[in-house]
Amino acid sequence: MTTASRVLVLNSGSSSVKYQLLDMADRSRLAVGLVERIGVGAPPAKRGGQTSRLAHEALAGPNPGRRERVGPIADHEAALKAVAAELAADGLGLDSPELAAVGHRVVHGGTRFTAPTVIDDEVLAEVRSLVPLAPLHNPANITGIEVARALRADIPQVAVFDTAFHSTMPEHAAQYAIDAATAAKYSVRRYGFHGTSHAYVSRATARLLGKAPEEVNVIVLHLGNGASASAVRGGVCVDTSMGLTPLEGLVMGTRSGDLDPAVIFHLARVGGLSVDEIDALLNKRSGLLGMCGDNDMREVLRRAGEGDAAAQGAFATYVHRLKKYIGAYAAVLGRVDAVAFTAGVGENSPQVREAAVDGLAELGLVLDPEANAVRSPEPRLISTEYARVAVAVVPTDEELEIASQAYALVTQ
Ligand code: ADP
Repeated sequence: MTTASRVLVLNSGSSSVKYQLLDMADRSRLAVGLVERIGVGAPPAKRGGQTSRLAHEALAGPNPGRRERVGPIADHEAALKAVAAELAADGLGLDSPELAAVGHRVVHGGTRFTAPTVIDDEVLAEVRSLVPLAPLHNPANITGIEVARALRADIPQVAVFDTAFHSTMPEHAAQYAIDAATAAKYSVRRYGFHGTSHAYVSRATARLLGKAPEEVNVIVLHLGNGASASAVRGGVCVDTSMGLTPLEGLVMGTRSGDLDPAVIFHLARVGGLSVDEIDALLNKRSGLLGMCGDNDMREVLRRAGEGDAAAQGAFATYVHRLKKYIGAYAAVLGRVDAVAFTAGVGENSPQVREAAVDGLAELGLVLDPEANAVRSPEPRLISTEYARVAVAVVPTDEELEIASQAYALVTQ
């Protein structure tokens, strides 16, 4: 049993590290920040004068407030040392005995990791063995783990997997209808992502309804730049829209979501595109961006409001797909108690929420337009009092969820 109550949460990307320091004694945030463009040299060596940047905000300690450091940060080790220096300046140094654990967001846990896990050499080797399933994400997560371990070898480093919450999906939802031997040989199945958010939001939605998670069936719509839906029965995930990779499912900022797999053969055979070119097309230049040239929903809505046909079309396709998943998950769950909107678009766009739910009164979904228009950082209901299914806006908090899971594991 430890009395230390702080948890550092690290979300390491290929050229960025997002971090938060939380105190789990009262679930408060002590500091938050972001290091971006790691590995980009000093201007004018690189185009556009772009270099690394550390944006830090202390929320406790002697110097609360925002600070920014601009200048080259060569690699993740230098990034984490720079973060440690900022935290030390706040009296929140990582060498503090108050630090109980470091919680790492790890994107892919395969079928091996279904719960938060204390990282040792063996776990790290297994996370590394999953790199082929998440070639863009897991390597960066591993780097973050190695650097944090070197800095504080004496405290537990905990991996919290984006896939874990979805590991309860029944086999009929997880398997693709392809040759079973091929699927097994290459680990081809549906894993799902954004699991930390779906877990947090489905539980927070139950709380909003005054119920225990076991008592409610919730459809969670995580609509950020990446987007996914999940069907959660009694606190347990039974289906989700992302699959082997985050490409499947909803229309996203830059990803296509669902499409006929034969589109890929067609582009290769008729268009002469390589596998890598098609990968980049579907992941980085599709979705809202591909259809209308903007991936930010605010911009799409602004242009659509001015009569721009491409933006209107992109919005319509985005909403159509969303509606299809709401209907599909209503069928999967049988009884739906709540539909919860979360992440950048879900939390902030009354237009998207209204359009997604429009015409679904037969399913029990009826919005209260006034409640839908309210801006608030709090979880809230936006359905009419008499609607059979509650519609909610529930801000997600993946960092708090990672910290909670890591802390629970090291103090159990
Ligand atoms: P990420 O997937 O990068 O974590 P977020 O959950 O932060 O994304 O969501 C970012 C997206 O949220 C932006 O790309 C933007 O489209 C959308 N967004 C943010 N604010 C609004 C708003 N007021 N109206 C519509 N969309 C918004």
